[in-house]
Amino acid sequence: MKIRIQGLSFRYKRAYVLERFNLDMPRNRITAVSGPSGAGKSTLLFCLNRLWEGLYPGNMEGRIRSFLDNEWVDIYDSKVSLPWLRQKTGMVFQSPNPFPMSIRDNLLFPLKLAACSHGKRTAAEGDLFAVLKKVYLYDEVKERMEAPAACLSGGQQQRLCIARALMANPEILLLDEPTSSLDPVAEERIETLLTDLKSECTIVMVSHSESQIRRVADIRVRIHPPRPA
Ligand code: ADP
Ligand code: MG
Repeated sequence: MKIRIQGLSFRYKRAYVLERFNLDMPRNRITAVSGPSGAGKSTLLFCLNRLWEGLYPGNMEGRIRSFLDNEWVDIYDSKVSLPWLRQKTGMVFQSPNPFPMSIRDNLLFPLKLAACSHGKRTAAEGDLFAVLKKVYLYDEVKERMEAPAACLSGGQQQRLCIARALMANPEILLLDEPTSSLDPVAEERIETLLTDLKSECTIVMVSHSESQIRRVADIRVRIHPPRPA
């Protein structure tokens, strides 16, 4: 196993969005999370890298453990460093969100963050190219690394966002409906690349597409909104 969720409850206001939710996710597999709109799928992903921290303190109960750096870590333990956790648990959002900077600087951004928190590293050109190859973007951008990322198509931008997440060497990759704004060709490329990435990452992907889930998921989990009290 890679992630163990036990008795997770979360609420924004009074009503619970997730209630006593339990789930184990195996390592090096794609777990697909589906369910109706408003069921709490995004909320669940955000709990896995503490994205709610600060905004809704005290609104979560239960325990989430991830197996990171060869040990089980209670990710809400106060001793866990947030930059470290986010480095180990990458996130890709529904709409591609390249930063307003060049393709190269988008890729270097996670390393600059890591340098702030633990005083190291820049990337060699070869590292950038290796990641771009992994996401099948290398041939499309190798001649224009200094161009603004905003020049890329939607599918290319989403592959760049996946590449940016991979630059931090995450063990877990969370993706929230990563292809919902893309055309079928771009979607297929991303599905292929996620399947390739299983060997190095544990993937949790929210998807509303039954056919996508059939194509890529090893494990499927359907979540339902809690019944009104
Ligand atoms: P899903 O991703 O399955 O569509 P979400 O996790 O985004 O669902 O949302 C679950 C529920 O929480 C919905 O009822 C939504 O309206 C509510 N919700 C989401 N984000 C917030 C927020 N920031 N503040 C208040 N309620 C929210
Ligand atoms: Mg959502």
